[in-house]
Order: sequence, then structure tokens, then C-alpha cells
Amino acid sequence: MKKILFISTTLFFLFLCLFIKKEQTEEVKTIIKNNKETLVAINYPQTKYKNLNKEIEKYIKQTYKLFQIEYEDFKHLDGKAELNIDYEYRKIENKYVIVTLTVNMDAHDEDSPYKEMKTFAYALSEKKIVSLMDIIKHKEKVMQNIHDQILYKYHIEAEELLTKEKIEKYPFMIKDDTLTLYIKYYQREFTYLVINIPMNQFKNEKKETNKMVTKIKEKNVIDPNKKVIALTFDDGPSKYTKEIINILKEYNINATFFVLGNKISLYRETLSKMIENGNEIGNHSYNHKWMIKLNEKEIKWQIEKTNEILKEELNYTPTSIRPTYGSINNKIKESTNLNIVLWTVDTLDWKIKDPKKIANRGIKVQDGSIILMHDAHSRTAKALKIMIPKLLEEGYVFVTVEELREINLIRKKM
Ligand code: ZN
Repeated sequence: MKKILFISTTLFFLFLCLFIKKEQTEEVKTIIKNNKETLVAINYPQTKYKNLNKEIEKYIKQTYKLFQIEYEDFKHLDGKAELNIDYEYRKIENKYVIVTLTVNMDAHDEDSPYKEMKTFAYALSEKKIVSLMDIIKHKEKVMQNIHDQILYKYHIEAEELLTKEKIEKYPFMIKDDTLTLYIKYYQREFTYLVINIPMNQFKNEKKETNKMVTKIKEKNVIDPNKKVIALTFDDGPSKYTKEIINILKEYNINATFFVLGNKISLYRETLSKMIENGNEIGNHSYNHKWMIKLNEKEIKWQIEKTNEILKEELNYTPTSIRPTYGSINNKIKESTNLNIVLWTVDTLDWKIKDPKKIANRGIKVQDGSIILMHDAHSRTAKALKIMIPKLLEEGYVFVTVEELREINLIRKKM
């Protein structure tokens, strides 16, 4: 009798579907079961699309069954066994519906508590379930981005997590133009690596690239008998870079900007102007990791990724690199053919707040000096306005680091 009562309540709750409006796009089915041994709360969407509903319901049933089997063996243990399923629903550009279920289960067994996510992506026109790869455009770039994030956010080798078969199965969600991918990863216990990719960075990329044709200024002819100095700026581009370029232009001089790969696409127009005006761009790594702390593979990636972006975004090929924090080791030397350029005069503009004091350090130069500044502060621009006229007055010619290298070669031969 007791058993019949139990089964009937189970059935009663299982088939008790509450219809609640959620997100005005679909109905919600809710299953709640609360008794002495178990606590079950399941929410899942009942969409307008039959084929999609069928797949979701199949998964819910399977999961529920698994839960029952698991807890059957452990129900003698204290406490209730719990099953909770919830979901997220999004419609993408009237083309796809994405439903991602999150299952949390505690059946007192050795795998508990257990979390599983499952995504159903449905193509409205084809009326069928599709995979992530069917939905995203710019697949190669997105994959590269995922790969890089796994490597640099989690320090995990990404290749074997990103095989075609695996990537098709990872749960995901697309919200506000951001793709979030959940990669189940075993490291002592199962966890999910969470990768966010802003999709709008890939939009209309071709068109913009075509628009951005950078005219390169004719090469300056520099008299090797004149006193030369090279102004250099690290850690940009930033919102202050434009002003610095304008100041240089005002005095008709050029400098070298050692840029970070991950900032390039944000300031393409500024960088394009920078090149047009005859300035030079150097490599300063992708995201300012301390390069001497990285292994050879990571160093190469930092350098090559930045070069790739410069080529892609600005059709520019740098000839020099400044390692982060000016620290060099053999691994860095062996990882690149670019000329490694440090500095001889440090303005300390990253630390000193007063532009006058920065300028005072910046004018203590001699023939061949390389001056270190950062186009990441407004005070640097103010200091430049003081420094440049004084240095011009003293007869210095401003050159880029590549020009300085050429001058030094000529001087050696003289
Ligand atoms: Zn730096």
C-alpha cells in the first residue's frame, strides 16, 4: 500500500506540469517532487518547436531515470537525494533557438554532487538540431580565440580539448553577442572552464580591413653626423595615444610605439594615423605577461600573435621588439628574429605624477639615447610638450629605433 502511494505521488508530481510564462517566448514545464527521500525540481522549456521539445524531453527523462537508479542504492543514507534542472533560453536573430540545461544532482553516490550541462541548438528554417559550428561564423578565428583563452586563462594545453568531436558536444550559450562556452575538464575533480567570446569583434571585419589602407610616409633621410635620439612609448595603444601622435606631428618628429597585441583592434584608426605620420610600431607582447617567466612556446605565441594582428589589422610588419619590463633571457632571444630594443633613459612616467619632473628626466640625453615613456597616461603627453622643444633647441634629431639602428650601422662603417 505504501509503495503504491509512493508511486502514485511520484507520478502525480511528474505529470503535474505547471505552465508559467518565462521570457515571453516559451512555456515552462515544471516538475516538483518533495518527499521524505528525494527533492526534485525540474524546469524546462516547452517551445513552439516540436522536434526541439522532443529532444529536450528525452534528455530530461534520461536524467531523471539515472537519478532514480543512483539514489535507489543509497537511499538508506541520511538526507534527501536531490535533483535540480534549470535552463536558459535564447532566440538568435530569428534563426536559432538555444536551450542550455543545467543539471545538479546529489544521489548520495560517489559521483555526487554532480553537475552536467547540455545544450540544444535548433535551426528554425531547417527544423533540426544543429551544432555550435553550424551557428558561428568566422569559425577559425573563434576557435583560435577559444584555444588562446584556454591556454592563457587556465594554463591548460588546449589542442586535445578542441578536437572536432569534442567541440560539437560542449554546452554553450549566446547572449548579448557573447558566446559562452563551457568545457568540462577533469583536474582532481570535474570543473567547467568558462570561455567568453565577444562575437561582435568578428563582424564586418573584411569591409573595415579594406577601408583601412594606411599610406606609409616616405622614409626620412637622416644625416648620420647629427645628434640623434629615439623617443619610445610602451604599453599602448590607449586613449592617450592619439594626443601623443598629434603632438609629434605638431613638431614634425617621429617616435616608436611598442604596442600590445590585445589592444590593437580597439585603436586601429589611431595606429593607422600613427603609421601614416611616419612613426614606427614595435612588438611589446600580446598581453604584457612577464616574458622571462614564460616557456618558449608561450613566448613565441606572445610575439607571433601580436605580429599577426598587426599584419591583419594594419598590414604592418614590425622589425623590433621590446620585451615586457625590459627583461631578456636566452629563451626570448632564441624565440624571435626581431631586433630586441631596450632603452637608455627612463623617464619613470609610469610612476612620477608631475609632468615637469618627467620632462626633466627625459631631457637628460646624449647622442644615440633611447628614451622610455608610456602612451598610457595623460601626464606623458604634458611632459612631451615640455621636452620636445628643449631637445630640438639643443639640436637633436628625433629618429625611430629602426632609423637609429641604420644610423649606427652607417657610423660603424664610417
Ligand atoms: Zn611594458
